Amino acid sequence: MNEFAQGAAWMAGDILPIAEARISVLDWGLTHSDITYDVVPVWNGAFFRLPDYLERFRQSVDTLKLTIPQTDAEITEILHRIVAASGLREAYVAMVASRGVPLIPGSRDPRDCGNHFYAWVIPYVHVIKPEVADRGCHLWISKGSRRIPEDSVNPRAKNYHWGDFTTGLLEAKERGFDTTALLDHHGNVTEGPGFNVFALKGDTVVTSDHGVLHGLTRRTVIELCQARDLTVETRPLPLSELLEADEVFLSTSSGGAVPVARVDDRVFSNDAPGPVAKTLRADYFALLERGEMSQPVRY
Ligand code: PLP
Repeated sequence: MNEFAQGAAWMAGDILPIAEARISVLDWGLTHSDITYDVVPVWNGAFFRLPDYLERFRQSVDTLKLTIPQTDAEITEILHRIVAASGLREAYVAMVASRGVPLIPGSRDPRDCGNHFYAWVIPYVHVIKPEVADRGCHLWISKGSRRIPEDSVNPRAKNYHWGDFTTGLLEAKERGFDTTALLDHHGNVTEGPGFNVFALKGDTVVTSDHGVLHGLTRRTVIELCQARDLTVETRPLPLSELLEADEVFLSTSSGGAVPVARVDDRVFSNDAPGPVAKTLRADYFALLERGEMSQPVRY
């Protein structure tokens, strides 16, 4: 049995079984959520859009003023090595940069921390299970939790500040919903734990331009919409507009385009995935299968 079959991590030059990967309890990534990350999918033995994920990761690292020694070429090499070690053909591959541990014990100056990079891989994760995507996701709009304002925590630097999402998720689960999406403080729909949100009305698709991570799957789905002659608008998406949409769907690297059948007590498409969302979901996985935006893992 491959000791990395459940996953592998690269830490400080070593490849470890995922269960043995550790960071210090003093690491600011843990104690202050002072950390950024990215996640690239591996599908059919190939990284999807890897240069785009690396570019976004580098931007996030720069936004947080972190310094890591690894170049993009070195990160690419590390990602290939861990996926190859795991042998996984469909995988969730995370790259992480953390503020690290203060090198002067007890220092409160972020500049005193030893920033570090690590990476890990586990079997492919669906943030919305495929059977839920097939029946249409039930989405709860959190009532008690608003998305952290973007001028407090920049959502475009992918981060672990998930307190707002966790509150929303607990609300959703207690009411029997699959997941949650959060509003901003003006009542516009932002995003959910691991996905962007789209509303379709007629031939026009709307997704938020602000207060959200600019998801790479959001980008892919926008391109797929345009290829199907839909008009795409990136602008604030009021909740009322979401509730009046013909279809609602989500986008995530962990599961592609996901149709939504219910938002709160509003039911869409006879309580089933809408035709456009279903088409986009199929288009996304067909693109992954074709491999034209992918690079094979060097197993
Ligand atoms: N929004 C948040 C908060 C996320 O965590 C994610 C992915 O994890 C997304 C959106 C979707 O981004 P992507 O399509 O790049 O996976």
